[in-house]
Amino acid sequence: MTEKILVPAGTARATVLRAGQVLRIVNVAGKQVADFVAFNAGDLTEALSTMHTIVSLGRLFPTTGDQLRTNRRRPMLEFSRDDAGRHDMIIAACDPWRYEYDFGVTGHRNCSDNFIDALREWGIQRHQLPQPVNLFQNMSYPDGQVRFSESLAKPGDTVELRALIDVVVAVSACPMDLNPISGFRVTDIALEVL
Ligand SMILES: [Zn+2]
Repeated sequence: MTEKILVPAGTARATVLRAGQVLRIVNVAGKQVADFVAFNAGDLTEALSTMHTIVSLGRLFPTTGDQLRTNRRRPMLEFSRDDAGRHDMIIAACDPWRYEYDFGVTGHRNCSDNFIDALREWGIQRHQLPQPVNLFQNMSYPDGQVRFSESLAKPGDTVELRALIDVVVAVSACPMDLNPISGFRVTDIALEVL
């Protein structure tokens, strides 16, 4: 029995994975960045941590076979499929202030608000949100510079993450349309729990 969840462009959805289940994340139209956060379902104070994951991998960019760690360094999820080949673990989720300070836009949809909405059932507040794994986001850091480039994801490109413990997960189809990361447009992400 496969659970299917559509994440409409610019919004987020959350669900629970039991240990051993796989979350399939499909880039329906291509180029769409999908911000991803996860919490230990049994203790929401333990969450996916990009900073701890970077230390354990010894690389900035995760791919097939890599284990994503929590803020207690526990392996939480394993990258079991990666069609796109480039994902980011450095850039903070977009939030109301990203659009206000950096683009002069108020009231823009954003991943931080999306996660709070999607995770309302679990009572997650903004300060509890970990920084996300930015699936399909094509960043580079040559000589310490921070470069935002268009996603390498083609239509239908898929990532699969296998849960190693029971987790609450949320995916935001990032509403950023003011820089090139998603090709200056915002499209749907499709989820399946296998
Ligand atoms: Zn975003």
